[in-house]
Amino acid sequence: MAKINQHYRQLKDSYLFSDIARRVAAFSQAHPEKEIIRMGIGDVTLPLMPSVISSLHSAVEEMADASTFRGYGPEQGYGFLRDAIRAYYVRFGVQLDPDEIFVSDGAKSDLGNITDLFSADNTVLIPDPVYPVYVDTNLMNGRKILYMNANAENGFLPMPDPEVRTDLIYLCSPNNPTGAVYTREQLAAWIDYALAQDAVLLFDAAYEAFIGDSSLPHSIFELPDAKRCAIEFCSLSKTAGFTGTRCGYTIIPKTLKIEGMSPNRMWNRRQATKFNGVPYIIQRGAEAAFSEEGVRQSQEMVAYYKKNTAVMAETLERCGVHFFGGVHSPYLWMECPDRMDSWTFFDYLLENAAIVGTPGAGFGINGEGYFRLTGFGSQPKTMEAMQRIASLLKGAN
Ligand code: PLP
Repeated sequence: MAKINQHYRQLKDSYLFSDIARRVAAFSQAHPEKEIIRMGIGDVTLPLMPSVISSLHSAVEEMADASTFRGYGPEQGYGFLRDAIRAYYVRFGVQLDPDEIFVSDGAKSDLGNITDLFSADNTVLIPDPVYPVYVDTNLMNGRKILYMNANAENGFLPMPDPEVRTDLIYLCSPNNPTGAVYTREQLAAWIDYALAQDAVLLFDAAYEAFIGDSSLPHSIFELPDAKRCAIEFCSLSKTAGFTGTRCGYTIIPKTLKIEGMSPNRMWNRRQATKFNGVPYIIQRGAEAAFSEEGVRQSQEMVAYYKKNTAVMAETLERCGVHFFGGVHSPYLWMECPDRMDSWTFFDYLLENAAIVGTPGAGFGINGEGYFRLTGFGSQPKTMEAMQRIASLLKGAN
């Protein structure tokens, strides 16, 4: 008789985005004349940048010619892309060996699949609120999860508690959903803690391109000793608009050793066994995103979204609404006004301003009372949304 993985019974159904969609559909049916502005889902809206498009086109042409056609590629990614990523990290003062870089179809897959390397009896430390993938992928494997509170008191940047024993630690900076960013000193404290516990730090840098202050680290490997305890996940989704194009990468230092084993070699083995690589065409597009021109264009794209978050921040400040993030991040994490809970505020904003955001409760217990707005929309719609929010919240205060 087939036996299922019983741990799937522990998973809560993910109602967040389906609940949002249901409420938005009901509102839209009741008020077809109202133009809804969506500031909820963290997807980008700008098209791929010219350097990427041109490279994708050339790669398509190569596939049309027998002399340049490519079939299966290396599971870990083509050398040209691993070299381009290696060169990108030199900008942050990080020296990597191309063999430490593994190209994938996005950070979500790697964040989920990395759990293959660790036994089920590891204890996992995860911040709350959180990007839900870390929680669900560990529940699927039956691991014990300890939550650490991220809240207004610690600026949504929880720090290690030496009393707490753990084996795996997830950190995301700049953070989804709160937009909070760890400083160099704070990450150094996490590295000390991980080394003291023989724990592995799983660092999600998906939003690194939004960091606009040279004193803040883009990569965990900017910190000494991180190569002995950390794995980094990153993605072209938010940096270069690849949410639908799909490309990311994971960095596993060769100097990281666990119980005498090399996670770098284990991941190489795992990918070679279970993954057949990212399409050649996409990898050429990704390579272009890391070229001089590509990085410049990507920075322009990020600047466009950051202009939105600046308008959003300025509006909330004017309305006397307290918020986190929105500076080195596309996300603003606002306190719901008048102590509304996050779903009540969701309905209030939808009913009275036809704006859709994401209720903080969807990201964990500490998300209650908060609301996530994204700067990934178009500038005119963001302006319009902020005018609506300003008149609504000024009226309410
Ligand atoms: N990590 C965080 C924190 C995210 O918010 C997201 C996507 O929203 C991802 C990873 C996934 O990125 P990708 O599109 O590369 O799978």
